[in-house]
Amino acid sequence: MEKFTTAVIGGGAAGLVCAARLQGDGIVLFEKLVRVGKKLSATGNGQGNISNAEVENATYFSVADGGTTLAKRIIGEYGRDSFVDYIHMLGGLCICDERGRIYPASRQASSITDLLRREVAAHGVDVRLGTEVRAIKKTEGGFLLTVSSSGEERRCFAENVVLCAGGKAAKNFGTDGAGYGLAKSLGHTVTPVYPSLVQLKADTRWTKTLKGIRAQDCDVRVLVDGDEVLALSGDVIFTEYGVSGDAIFRLSAYIASSLEKDVRLLLDFAPTVDEATLRDFLADKQARLGGEELLCGVVNNQIGRAILRRYGEEGGDVAALVKRFDVRVTGSLGFDYAQVTKGGVPTVEVDENLQSKKVKGLYLAGEILDVDGQCGGFNLQWAYASACKVAAAIDKK
Ligand SMILES: Cc1cc2nc3c(=O)[nH]c(=O)nc-3n(C[C@H](O)[C@H](O)[C@H](O)COP(=O)(O)OP(=O)(O)OC[C@H]3O[C@@H](n4cnc5c(N)ncnc54)[C@H](O)[C@@H]3O)c2cc1C
Repeated sequence: MEKFTTAVIGGGAAGLVCAARLQGDGIVLFEKLVRVGKKLSATGNGQGNISNAEVENATYFSVADGGTTLAKRIIGEYGRDSFVDYIHMLGGLCICDERGRIYPASRQASSITDLLRREVAAHGVDVRLGTEVRAIKKTEGGFLLTVSSSGEERRCFAENVVLCAGGKAAKNFGTDGAGYGLAKSLGHTVTPVYPSLVQLKADTRWTKTLKGIRAQDCDVRVLVDGDEVLALSGDVIFTEYGVSGDAIFRLSAYIASSLEKDVRLLLDFAPTVDEATLRDFLADKQARLGGEELLCGVVNNQIGRAILRRYGEEGGDVAALVKRFDVRVTGSLGFDYAQVTKGGVPTVEVDENLQSKKVKGLYLAGEILDVDGQCGGFNLQWAYASACKVAAAIDKK
């Protein structure tokens, strides 16, 4: 039977970083897909938004208690500069855009995968592609792994196991939630999980005619059961099923676990003018020019017509509809379309080095843990930081 010092399960962002940073011999990386970093290579619309200038002040989420604090502490140790320096050390340069998003200067996410793949090879890591870890059993001094490759099952032994099998989002990248089963088989629990960074389904009664229309730099307020939980600005795109666009992606991280509740988006299509001024302007315009094209030149023409149609049926006040257009959220497009999983293995079940408190020698890193970030490079930063933490802890042993 083959024996290894450390088996890294999952050749995604966290697994690659962990394998590349582990010192010494006997390291194996199992990836069930035929190539490593498939998801990493698709991140940031293929450009690889790996971190963010604001990462140290960012909000991280968790379903169970403890994830946010743990993420902050570990990212405090392995933050943006650490990640950028590491990429530099591997031979890549990073750039920061006007919104603080950090990318490889190549603007190719695949180049981050290439740099990591090269480093993993240079460290002599044994990379087993197309090899799925089916079962892990704790044994004397380590773990017995059952791995499957080309329809054939084999057993191997590893002193340490790093579980970086990702979450449940975007299963076409190898992540269908099966990693949670491996964690559970070793005594861990998993919180409820929710799709995050995802398009939202909504009541389209008033927006049916707006399919494909983008409301640019829209101010969006988010109400859950009547309480405002968030306000942000960005693009909102109306779709057949509801709403998409960068503002929607960003706010989905805050409400992913609240979609059973009454969630409303209040869209402000004219954020540069206050409601009273707009009301006066529209009253004057109506008196001078009539009401037919009242919103022409004020908001996007199609949005203007949708507002006037709603006003025609619901009554009320046109200025209020422009400033507070209410969209009722009815769900999300789900895990297949989500970029990230909210929830996972609770962080109270790992120690400060991300070693399992249930099974010695088992470590967890990346999205499989109950930590998720906002849109903008925060999730790859977590994958990097948590993987660095684990590699350092194993090396210290
Ligand atoms: C389309 C898309 C775009 C994104 N863009 C960004 C972005 O720009 N910035 C950002 O910060 N985040 C982005 N994300 C999120 C980010 O990619 C993830 O949070 C991050 O990749 C998680 O890293 P991970 O290593 O924990 O898991 P993953 O990268 O998901 O890797 C897990 C790996 O484990 C493998 N695996 C699973 N089970 C087994 C098993 N039993 N045996 C062997 N292998 C197994 C899988 O095949 C997979 O390769 C994006 C996500 C998607 C889907």
